[in-house]
Amino acid sequence: MLETYIRFFPKRYECPHCGKTTLPQLRWCEPRCHHTIAYENHVLLQLINSTTYDVSIIVHLSEDEVEGIVKRRISTSVNWDLIKKIELLGMDEISRKKDN
Ligand SMILES: [Zn+2]
Repeated sequence: MLETYIRFFPKRYECPHCGKTTLPQLRWCEPRCHHTIAYENHVLLQLINSTTYDVSIIVHLSEDEVEGIVKRRISTSVNWDLIKKIELLGMDEISRKKDN
C-alpha cells in the first residue's frame, strides 16, 4: 500500500483594525488539529483491541499523538440526562497477569 500525505496550510486572516488573526473553520478538520477528522477516526478504529503504543507504530505517530486524539475525541463523562433506561449492561474483565 502506498502511503499518501497531504499537507494543508489554512489561510490565516488578519483583522486590519486590531491585528488579531483567525483561521477558517473546516468541516473535515477541527481548529488547531494536525490531522483530519477522517484520519482521527481511522486511528480510533485501530485502537479496538490494541494499545496506544501498538497503534502508534502502525500509524507512524507518537504515542502522545495517539493519546491526544483519544482525549480530544472520546468523552470521559456521561450525560445521564440523555439516558432514559439501561436495557442491557455488559461487563468484561482484563487479566493483567497470566492465569489470573
Ligand atoms: Zn479586529
